[in-house]
Amino acid sequence: MTVVPHIIAGREVTGDLRSGPVFNPATGERIASVGFADAARVGEAIAAASAALPGWRETGLIKRADVFFRLRQLLVERSKELAAIITTEHGKVFSDALGEISRGIENVEFAAGLVHLLKGEYSEQVSRGVDVHSVKQPVGVVAAITPFNFPIMVPLWMTASAIACGNTVVLKPSEKDPSASVFLARLFAEAGLPDGVLNVVHGDAEAVTTLLDAPEVRAVSFVGSTPIARSIYSRATANGKRVQALGGAKNHMIVMPDADLDAAADAVVSASYGAAGERCMAISVLVPVGDATADALLPRIAERVARLRIGDGTDPASEMGPLITAEHRAKVASYVTGAAAEGADVVIDGTAQEFAGDGFFLGVSLVDKVRPGMRVYDEEIFGPVLSVARVGSYAEAVALVNANRYANGTAIFTRDGGTARQFEVDIEVGMVGVNVPIPVPVGAFSFGGWRDSLFGDAHIYGPESVHFYTRSKVVTSRWPEPSESQVDLGFPSNH
Ligand code: NAD
Repeated sequence: MTVVPHIIAGREVTGDLRSGPVFNPATGERIASVGFADAARVGEAIAAASAALPGWRETGLIKRADVFFRLRQLLVERSKELAAIITTEHGKVFSDALGEISRGIENVEFAAGLVHLLKGEYSEQVSRGVDVHSVKQPVGVVAAITPFNFPIMVPLWMTASAIACGNTVVLKPSEKDPSASVFLARLFAEAGLPDGVLNVVHGDAEAVTTLLDAPEVRAVSFVGSTPIARSIYSRATANGKRVQALGGAKNHMIVMPDADLDAAADAVVSASYGAAGERCMAISVLVPVGDATADALLPRIAERVARLRIGDGTDPASEMGPLITAEHRAKVASYVTGAAAEGADVVIDGTAQEFAGDGFFLGVSLVDKVRPGMRVYDEEIFGPVLSVARVGSYAEAVALVNANRYANGTAIFTRDGGTARQFEVDIEVGMVGVNVPIPVPVGAFSFGGWRDSLFGDAHIYGPESVHFYTRSKVVTSRWPEPSESQVDLGFPSNH
């Protein structure tokens, strides 16, 4: 059986005491094994990153940028190979895997502008003969811990900026689909990145806690579920590290009575069932304003759902693939089967759909008359289940969204510019779409939610990542003539 290797100081390393299975979710077959790094193995990766740090931070900015231009080219040239790896281990359809790669490439393009991004500021003559300038310097070794659902995009969210800023990285990808990160490390090496600047270790909680406790690790970027994000944040900040920990989501899409209902139905079906709902920006709650809006939307959604083709992601006809594991499928199905007992109305029951073979497939579900207090509403499901929470007014819709513990993304569908503008002001969510159901910001902006969707101050990738992955230093300088020297015990004043 294939063993997915760690990459430490440019070398492929295997031979761990513990390991886990990697499945092809479309067939249910175990296709590889991944070793779980113990503390000693993670220590080797941290040592490799520490050793590579002085050389990399001293590498000229133009030379550093060259690596990203080459990496971009390699990602484009090898995208089909990479997408095949993603589809095989994650299950998302091939076109969606290509989409994920193209969004990750945006982060590489942003990083390639590092000469501009790392510019400091300069003020001449703040006092007679005194100038001040600021510089951005790397923080040091960065730990990057990523979830299963975007096996290449999320590692690129972190590694591109962190490395561009002169840091070295230990990446701990999801153990469920680890091969894309190994592929990325190989591409980085081919693009000219020196050994040890990007290390990849696989594993579970033991590997992660070793990273969180290591004094050499200065910053931690984490993306995953909210309970883990919260615990990572508290442990790593208690250890004095800089941390950004992005968590789960429950994204609402509000549909106003004046919206184009066909466009809204297309959008909500695409955004809730795409990637089998395993996207942190998936729409999981539809909020029609007024019963007439709801009653007009539901048949339109049902009509579109009936045409969805669910199957192996390598089949170009498939629009939606399986879930990541059999356990996750059972958990997602439990929300649907429990919804009726909670008083909701299961309009489409995907758990009843049957599939040939042993893949982790689940049909899509639509659950109407969902309210806060029901498990199907309160918890992140992370599967192809769309809840409908009917409200009577715009104000009720906003209050519903603002009361939710998660605040990653949201969207409003309307033809009224005034309502859309007011929504931007009123809504307390990190990423907002206006007639755009999945408002993932382009690579030149930063990504992040509010409340339980993000622990820490800095959003990820884009301009906020440059701030997160650098420390600023301010230098005040004066070049006096020898004859000017004098002692003055007063506090330095610029007046
Ligand atoms: P997860 O929290 O189970 O795992 C994320 C990472 O943490 C993995 O590398 C995993 O190995 C590690 N981990 C798991 N248990 C741990 C523990 N006890 N201690 C330390 N580390 C541990 O998340 P997942 O199931 O891989 O991914 C899905 C989740 O990620 C969803 O909740 C989704 O909303 C979220 N997500 C959020 C965003 C965002 O930008 N906010 C993006 C993608 C995914």
